[in-house]
Amino acid sequence: MHTQLQEKTDSKKKLENLVQEGQKLSSLQMETIRVQGYEKVVKVTDKLAGLTAIIAIHNTTLGPALGGIRIQPYARFEDALEDVLRLAKGMTYKSAVSEVGFGGGKSVIIADPKKGKTPEMLLAFGAAVQALGGSYICAEDVGSTTKDVKIVRKSTQYVVGLPHEKSSKDPSPFTAWGTFRGVQSVLKKIYGTDSLVGRTVAVQGLGHVGSVLVGYLFWAGADLILSDIDGEQARALADKYGARVVPADQILQVSCDVLAPCALGGILNGKTIPLLRCRAIAGAANNQLLSDSDANALRERGILYAPDFVINAGGLLNVSAELEEEGYNPTSPREKTHRIYDTLLAIYEIAEKNQESTHTAALALAEYRIRYNIGKRVIPPTFHHSVDE
Ligand code: NAD
Repeated sequence: MHTQLQEKTDSKKKLENLVQEGQKLSSLQMETIRVQGYEKVVKVTDKLAGLTAIIAIHNTTLGPALGGIRIQPYARFEDALEDVLRLAKGMTYKSAVSEVGFGGGKSVIIADPKKGKTPEMLLAFGAAVQALGGSYICAEDVGSTTKDVKIVRKSTQYVVGLPHEKSSKDPSPFTAWGTFRGVQSVLKKIYGTDSLVGRTVAVQGLGHVGSVLVGYLFWAGADLILSDIDGEQARALADKYGARVVPADQILQVSCDVLAPCALGGILNGKTIPLLRCRAIAGAANNQLLSDSDANALRERGILYAPDFVINAGGLLNVSAELEEEGYNPTSPREKTHRIYDTLLAIYEIAEKNQESTHTAALALAEYRIRYNIGKRVIPPTFHHSVDE
């Protein structure tokens, strides 16, 4: 016990020393990359810290850019750039549609998240975020952990999603509830009732979001088909909810009312769309469409698609509530997450009227809100965490 405490104190001291040393020895460089349609894109390097990163700020019309730190060992710098630009733009649309008073941004650190991360690197990255003066607020994302973000916090206050007294904690139940409401919305549009009794929902991916979603679906009366590359997880949930399990390579082809992708991006593409046997798609996964044109292919097949950046905004609504002046209260994001249903129904109506895909209609809605400043932040975000958290 004593040893554990001693180790914790030692590592804290080590980190504090690093912060001080880093400030003295910084070799941080921030080089602007001009990209049309983006407010600011910077290549961040720090030779001493071994850091190569990109921070992309797509649009801050409605508020500071909010987006996670992705840590990935991209093969080429260009691949990292392409990814961060796409992700930052996606955050602009997601924030605009959900009216959270934030803009869109994202960052990538080019490193292996398992072996390549160092405290020096994360501290240098934080210094770059700080230098942007609050126009970009970072958070945990694929490849980064709360522990990493805690280190980043040592050199910048512009961080969200840390564990502290007023923290919003795990976003997944909120994302799952928004997704559940999205499933109800597609049923309402197709069948005129959003009841799940007797409807079949196939869920791909039973992780943080998928496992919570299947619970909500079960209690609403749905019949479930489940799949995960982790067969044990799928079987455990199937036992719990009386569901059927199918292998990971078959879930997209099962006959069902609603397919809920909650695992990977890019799964709706030229190869998979012709094989689908669902009436609608409503799931939490980010970037489900491989390309925008895949939304037209779904429309041509008569499959109703709940646009991913609308249906999966519950987590964003939750985390952004933490930055309110009065501090986090789960009831406020709960109400907003619940209303994802209404936003989606409005999008289906617009799409039908304009004879366009639901994805196109959702993008147009986001662009409209940006053009007319709808949902623009009035009060600057309040950061409730302290440097020690
Ligand atoms: P997670 O990593 O906890 O779960 C993903 C699950 O998918 C895992 O159980 C994994 O084994 C499974 N999986 C991976 N490949 C698969 C495949 N080919 N077939 C079936 N299962 C497969 O992730 P999560 O937090 O539950 O997020 C799920 C998706 O939702 C991701 O795309 C994520 O970006 C998106 N999303 C999550 C949140 C959130 O609040 N966690 C918010 C918005 C969007």
